[in-house]
Amino acid sequence: MSATPAMPSFLMDRLVKPAALALSIAGLPLAAEARTDRPALFVDVATVVPDAVFDVRYFGSDNFVGMRVDGYTAARCFLTRPAADALAAVAAEAKTGGLGLRIFDCYRPARAVAHFARWAADLADTRTKATFYPDVEKKDLFAEGYIAARSGHSRGSTLDLALFDRATGADLDMGTPFDLFSPRSWPASDAVTRAQKANRERLEGLMVRHGFVPFEKEWWHFTLKAEPFPDTYFDFPIE
Ligand SMILES: [Zn+2]
Repeated sequence: MSATPAMPSFLMDRLVKPAALALSIAGLPLAAEARTDRPALFVDVATVVPDAVFDVRYFGSDNFVGMRVDGYTAARCFLTRPAADALAAVAAEAKTGGLGLRIFDCYRPARAVAHFARWAADLADTRTKATFYPDVEKKDLFAEGYIAARSGHSRGSTLDLALFDRATGADLDMGTPFDLFSPRSWPASDAVTRAQKANRERLEGLMVRHGFVPFEKEWWHFTLKAEPFPDTYFDFPIE
């Protein structure tokens, strides 16, 4: 089954790569500014926040697509320098409270987002539904905002993360796991316990104090408010 809508002919001749196809699926403008080189302003976050745990889910198969995602050829995390520096300040404050950062995703190539869109359009593939979207029909993932044709992650100043207890290594209980597409993952959800909500607020407080903006539908997702590339979607691979 295909969810690809009819497309104006002036767009058809611009369909030169999967990213363009994905963008057309949601009826949004094509990314005129996709860039495939890695600008010098991007840094490997492991060099800036060395004691974070990097659990790069789209490099492996433990993700909603169920396989390694296009553009991930290494389990690495790149962010713009201002975002990485702000995250280092988050990590330092977290450490004073006995907490560490578990990072799931940082910069995300546009070709990875295109892979998500192809997966979302394949309504027959529901292998990961029970684990990642038990409360939402796959055909509604786009409409309900869980998957988008473009991701802020491609601008290089957005990341997904959780907190862990440095003494035990155990993650703080946020009520839902990373990438569970459900209203239960909304930071303000009342479907989680007070303790779980307090843990979400602890993460949000740390991030907001150091310049990040939360996202209303994912407790794990934050964007640097003063991001250096607010309009540019990059497509260099993670290697
Ligand atoms: Zn995210």
